[in-house]
Amino acid sequence: MTIGHCKICGRQLKNWLSVKFRIGPICRAEENKQMELFMFHANYDVVEIGDNYIYIEESNEGKTVTNDAEWVIEQLHEDYDLAGKRVFYKDCYGEVDEITHVNGVFKGFETGKYFEGGFNKNKIKDVVWNA
Ligand SMILES: [Zn+2]
Repeated sequence: MTIGHCKICGRQLKNWLSVKFRIGPICRAEENKQMELFMFHANYDVVEIGDNYIYIEESNEGKTVTNDAEWVIEQLHEDYDLAGKRVFYKDCYGEVDEITHVNGVFKGFETGKYFEGGFNKNKIKDVVWNA
């Protein structure tokens, strides 16, 4: 008798809970992992990548970028190599600030007051933050 197959991988399901949700334990664990990432870390879109900067915008789900900046820098560094790149982000209030880092290791925040009206790469000031 067939009691059902996992909707993701097609393996046969062996217990009532799996059958009820049409998903096996392995795929369920994988989905939970994705869900945790989504819920417990900041969610952002990479909007612009230049030679010496990255601009991201925070989305409303998950933690704020401000509260998860260390992790965000780590992720960006993994994906884009942040060496020599400054990181600017728009928070959910529409303000653009900078996350400072040294070669992908989070340092702190600087306010980007010169970005009033939104991010604009031509307005990036040539500042060297004190390490
Ligand atoms: Zn499965």
